[in-house]
Amino acid sequence: MKILFSRMLIIVLLSFVSASAISQKVGLLLGSYVSSRWYLDQKLFVDRIGDLGGECIVKIAYTPDEQSEQARKLIEEGVEVLVIVPLDADRAASIVRYARGFGVPVISYDRLILSKDLAVYLSYDNLKVGRMQAQYMVSKVPRGNYLLINGPTSDHNAILFRKGQLEILQPHIDMGKIRIVDDVVLDNWSQMDAFEKVTLYYKSGREKPDVILVANDALASGVIQALPSGYAGKVLISGQDADLAGIRNVIAGNQTMTVYKPIKPLAYAAAEMAVALVNRKDPGADVIRHNDSIAVPTILMDPLVVDKSNYRETVLKDGHASLLEVVNNL
Ligand code: BGC
Repeated sequence: MKILFSRMLIIVLLSFVSASAISQKVGLLLGSYVSSRWYLDQKLFVDRIGDLGGECIVKIAYTPDEQSEQARKLIEEGVEVLVIVPLDADRAASIVRYARGFGVPVISYDRLILSKDLAVYLSYDNLKVGRMQAQYMVSKVPRGNYLLINGPTSDHNAILFRKGQLEILQPHIDMGKIRIVDDVVLDNWSQMDAFEKVTLYYKSGREKPDVILVANDALASGVIQALPSGYAGKVLISGQDADLAGIRNVIAGNQTMTVYKPIKPLAYAAAEMAVALVNRKDPGADVIRHNDSIAVPTILMDPLVVDKSNYRETVLKDGHASLLEVVNNL
């Protein structure tokens, strides 16, 4: 009788252990693959969740409505935490509110959701990204025409990139050394749209830019393709992400610099925090105020300037891209 009882106890205990092991269900909502970095974010995040004994369901949305719908479905399916790359910073706040009603914490990944109810916001210092892009260009072209090309303001990062850039540029604009010839804000992070805008700009016969301050590598690829012949390598062009096309453009001399944001620490930290939240543990992040109404636990990682001189000891050394990938099709 005693033996039977202790066996039963073991079985009950084991089923508890395995139930808690399989119930670490995490939902990852990506906002499309507009930049190739998101494939890497997804892979690293899912792998790390797996290492930690959890299960990850990934959904990709192309519109904010689709993203909300996916969040609803995942909550119905029993995810215990949602990690979101929002397509629209404002509209995703309703997802956070909805999830909260079901006791599901939300991690805002890379892009801020404008909600005070976030469990954590994990990203890079995006103001610094903008400052780095502008600072690099000002050091090379202290006097001249600057054309600005940015992503959509529904992505809060785009606002921060621009703010950081202007912090650096404004004093030079005020002194009459730098002139902004146009300030283009695209509706989405589309390489094609960047290509069209810049093609039209050059056709319009307006003043030629010396620098095209482009927010990321995907847009920079479109910009480079739109340059009239003979301009590539002469106009200085910025970028961000150190994606494969970006690094190739830097090596080929068509793009002057990129801002490298190592993905692994971000994806791993997010996965670890997601699992901590599932287990009702404090994810351990300091509260930072982002505006009057939003002060949330935040982790901001450091971006890095990369150009022809240091891509080997940064992007390649980290394995962010391999030499083989980079030289292939160069
Ligand atoms: C990210 C960038 C990315 C862009 C387009 C931004 O929110 O911070 O790394 O290039 O979205 O996907």
